[in-house]
Amino acid sequence: MAEQFDVVVIGAGPAGYHAAIRAAQLGLKTACIDAALGKDGKPALGGTCLRVGCIPSKALLDSTHQYWNMQHQFGQHGISFKDAQMDVPKMVARKDAIVKQFTGGIAMLFKANKVTAYYGFGTLQPGNVVKVKQHDGAEVELKATNVIIAAGSDSIELPFAKFDGENIVDNVGALDFTEVPKRLAVIGAGVIGLELGSVWRRLGAEVTVLEALPDFLPAADAEVAKLAAREMKKEGLDIKLGAKVSKAEVVPSKGAGKGKKKEVAIAYADASGEQSLVVDKLLVAVGRRAATKGLLAEGTGVQVNERGQVVVDEHCHTGVDGIWAVGDCVRGPMLAHKGFEEGIAVAELIAGLPGHVNLDTIPYVIYTAPEIAWVGKTEQQLKAEGVPYKTGSFPFAAVGRAVAMAEPVGFAKVIAHAETDRVLGLHLIGPNVSELVHEGVLTMEFNGSADDLARICHAHPSLSEAIHDAAMAVDKRAIHKAN
Ligand code: FAD
Ligand code: NAD
Repeated sequence: MAEQFDVVVIGAGPAGYHAAIRAAQLGLKTACIDAALGKDGKPALGGTCLRVGCIPSKALLDSTHQYWNMQHQFGQHGISFKDAQMDVPKMVARKDAIVKQFTGGIAMLFKANKVTAYYGFGTLQPGNVVKVKQHDGAEVELKATNVIIAAGSDSIELPFAKFDGENIVDNVGALDFTEVPKRLAVIGAGVIGLELGSVWRRLGAEVTVLEALPDFLPAADAEVAKLAAREMKKEGLDIKLGAKVSKAEVVPSKGAGKGKKKEVAIAYADASGEQSLVVDKLLVAVGRRAATKGLLAEGTGVQVNERGQVVVDEHCHTGVDGIWAVGDCVRGPMLAHKGFEEGIAVAELIAGLPGHVNLDTIPYVIYTAPEIAWVGKTEQQLKAEGVPYKTGSFPFAAVGRAVAMAEPVGFAKVIAHAETDRVLGLHLIGPNVSELVHEGVLTMEFNGSADDLARICHAHPSLSEAIHDAAMAVDKRAIHKAN
C-alpha cells in the first residue's frame, strides 16, 4: 500500500530541497525523491546546482582566478615567483571534494529535519500519487496531500552537435576536463559559456565563443555589457557575435596517431560569410530546458507548455488540487536562489502561511572577471516601457578600496524613477559585485529611493562606496567625482 505523506517533493535540487526542509520544519510529514547519481555512481542530492552547476563552476572559477592573478596581477603588488604551474587533476579533485561535501550536506539536513529521501525516478500519477522507480529497480508508491514538482532542467542539445561526453560536451563535461584543451569552442555567449570559457581560457586554452545574437549580453545594462566585452577580450576570449553554427563534426585529429585523438570541425556563418574552425573540445551552452520528460503520467491534469515547463500561477500552483511546481521547471529565471525562494514559499503556503516570491527583485550574477551583477530594470527596458528615469554612476577607479586591491575596473549604476526617486535597478561590474548587488535588492524590496541609499552610512574604505556615490550621483551630488 502507498505510504501517505503530507508533502512529496519530486527533485532535490535547490528548489526541491528548500521546499522539503521548510515543509518538514513546519511539521509536515515530508518525502523528497531524487534520481541523480554523483560522479562516484552513488545518489547525490542537491540537483544541478550542487553537482554540476553553481558550486563546481565557482570552485573552478576561483582556482583559475587565483592562477590568472598570479601571472597578471601579483607583479604590481611586488610579488614575484619563478614558475606558476596548474595541476588540473588536483584542481578538479578539489572541486569534486567540495561537491561531495555539499551534496552529502543535503542528505544530513534531510536526516536532521526528518525528510524521508527516496533515490530514484518519480512519476506523478493521477490522484496525488507518486510512483518511484528506485535505483535497485524496486518500485514504491507514495500518496501525498501535496506534491511539489521540482524537477529542474537539462542542457539543450543542438541537433548537429550531439553531446558525446568527450569532444562535444555540456557543462558536465566542461567541469571535468582532465587537461587544458589547446583549442576550445563554446556555442553560446550566455552565463555558462562565459563562466566556463573563462575557466579554461585562464589556464591557457584558445577559446572562441560563437554567439548567434548580434548583441553581447543583451539582458544586462548596455554599458555593463560593453565594458564586459572589452574586459573579456583582454582576458583573451574571442567572442564572435552573429555566428550561426550549422555543423560540428568529431573527426580524427590531424597529426595524431591513427584512431587516437579526435577534434571537432565546426562550420558557421557570420556577417563576413561562411567560416570554419577546428578545436579540441566544443562546449555547447545554448540554454537549458525544463526536465519534465517522463515526469507526468496520463491524466494528472498538470499542463506543460511548448518549452516543457510546468504551467503555474504566481503562487507556483498548477491549478490541480495539491500540485505545485517550483524552480527551473517553471517560468522565470533559471537561478538557484529563485528556486530556493519558490520552494520555501510553497511549503509555507501549504502550511497555511503567507508565501510569496518577488520575481522583480531576483539578483543576477555572472561570475566572470570582472564580476557582473544586477537587480531590477535596465535602461533599455525602462526606455521600451516608457518609464521616466534618472541614473547615477560611479567608477571603481575612484573607490579607494578598489584601487588598494588593484581592482579599479568597473562601475556601479543606480537607476531611479525620475519623479518618485524610487530605485528601479542597480547595475554593477567590478570586484565582488556578486556581494554588493544585495544592497539594491534590499532597497528595492523596501521600496527605497536613491536618496535613501545616498543617506545610508557606508563603511570607508569599502567597495560599497561605489553604490553610495552612484546613488548620490543620481541627484548630481556625488562627492568623489565631477557631477
Ligand atoms: P535542479 O537543480 O536541476 O534539480 C532538479 C533535481 O531533480 C535533479 O537532481 C534531478 O535529478 C531531479 N529530478 C528531475 N526529475 C526527476 C524525477 N522525475 N524524479 C526524481 N528526480 C528528478 N544558478 C545560480 O543561481 N547561480 C549560479 O552561479 C549558477 N551557476 C550555474 C552553473 C552551471 C554550469 C549550471 C548548469 C547552472 C548554474 N546555475 C546557477 C543554475 C542552477 O543550477 C539552477 O537554476 C538550479 O539548480 C535549479 O534548481 P532546481 O531545484 O529547480 O533544479
Ligand atoms: P543562457 O540562456 O544564459 O545563454 C545561452 C546563449 O546561447 C544565449 O546568448 C543565446 O543567444 C545563445 N544561443 C542559443 N542558441 C544558439 C545557437 N544555436 N548558436 C549560438 N548561440 C546560441 O544559457 P546558458 O549559458 O546555457 O545557461 C543556462 C541557465 O543556467 C541560464 O538560464 C542561467 O541563468 C543559468 N546559469 C546561471 C549562472 C549564474 O547565475 N551565474 C551560471 C551558469 C548558468
